[in-house]
Amino acid sequence: MSECVFCRIVARQIPASVVHEDEHALAFMDLGQVNPGHVLVAAKAHVENLFGLEAAQAAGIAGATLRVARAIRSAFAPQGLSVYQANGKAAGQTVFHYHVHLVPRYEADGMALTWPVKNPPREKLEDYAARLRSALPG
Ligand SMILES: [Zn+2]
Repeated sequence: MSECVFCRIVARQIPASVVHEDEHALAFMDLGQVNPGHVLVAAKAHVENLFGLEAAQAAGIAGATLRVARAIRSAFAPQGLSVYQANGKAAGQTVFHYHVHLVPRYEADGMALTWPVKNPPREKLEDYAARLRSALPG
């Protein structure tokens, strides 16, 4: 039996409140429910994070994420929706099986994310962009 809690949910070895399932994705209610309607969209295959996804998996999960986001909007009519996805412990990832959080949002709902902006000069932005352009595959 897998040690990975999301693999166990995919295999129906532990219960979850499933919203959607297709070839690449399983969407289910987050146990924590930051706000009502908070869903996790997980890869069905065990992939630790974004970097391990095949293109077809990434596209499939993105499509499932869009479908479920629209369902959340229809069913709960939140004021906003945050899409949150973490890769690595430093980024806040706690379950090391690729997943996306869809969090319905409301004004002053207590959800916080700090952006410690640095506002570097334009030359720095050009340097960063050049580094990334040369690192892009094919
Ligand atoms: Zn897993």
